[in-house]
Amino acid sequence: YLDENISVADYTETELISQAFNKMLGRIKVLDDSRQEFVSNVSHELKTPITSMKVLADSLLMQEDVPVELYKEFMTDIAEEIDRESKIINDLLSLVRMDKSSANLNINLVNINEMLELILKRLRPIAANRNIELVFESFRPVTAEVDEVKLTLAFSNLVENAIKYNKDDGWVHVSLNSDHKYFFVEVADSGIGIPEESLEHIFERFYRVDKSHSTEISGTGLGLAITRSAILMHRGAVKVYSKENEGTTFTVRVPLNYIT
Ligand code: ADP
Repeated sequence: YLDENISVADYTETELISQAFNKMLGRIKVLDDSRQEFVSNVSHELKTPITSMKVLADSLLMQEDVPVELYKEFMTDIAEEIDRESKIINDLLSLVRMDKSSANLNINLVNINEMLELILKRLRPIAANRNIELVFESFRPVTAEVDEVKLTLAFSNLVENAIKYNKDDGWVHVSLNSDHKYFFVEVADSGIGIPEESLEHIFERFYRVDKSHSTEISGTGLGLAITRSAILMHRGAVKVYSKENEGTTFTVRVPLNYIT
């Protein structure tokens, strides 16, 4: 907490305490600002689908003898908004669970090949809908001490995004490797890519690349925040490389043995 250019001996004890105190206050303020911003973002995101549902329901109620087709059309829109609201709530709950200390990890020896193959199996029908090739390549069998539920969520988000932000007839390539200390997962896609100025923000809660880019593609902006938290809880790391219109690659490193 001290000014690095001045040696400790140059300060009086009171100055040292006062400097440390001011720096701590600064950090608390930063934390409090980010908490307030999060609460305000959450409220906004939760309100949006409710506002739409209210408008849709009110306009139905205001009309007499609504034709059944119109009624069905509005109800479909309302059902979609309910799905959106549920997705936001589920993602928020996952995020809150991740935010608690890593003491909440449920660590077991897990076969990582099987875990990734199951994720790909679940997502294959969605990829097939847009003729996207989903390939898994494993360089060796890997078992590691991890929380299977949390890492499944983390990697599912990466593969789901690789499909969602892809082009029709594109590809997604998932690979697994390891050394004596870590296992490495790479999720590469041939998708729309991420603009350079957005790369540093994509792991932030609620951040979505420039609305015009991804508004047609539904999402909450919470997926990558969840992925990052889950990986950090395992003392791992996640990085992203991307080129607009060419594709994106996420690389993840997780220790084979859980370090308490
Ligand atoms: P979302 O629910 O919007 O998908 P995420 O937190 O998972 O939220 O991702 C944040 C944003 O990062 C997305 O809205 C999208 O703009 C961008 N993004 C994430 N993954 C990819 C990818 N594989 N290719 C292109 N853009 C991506």
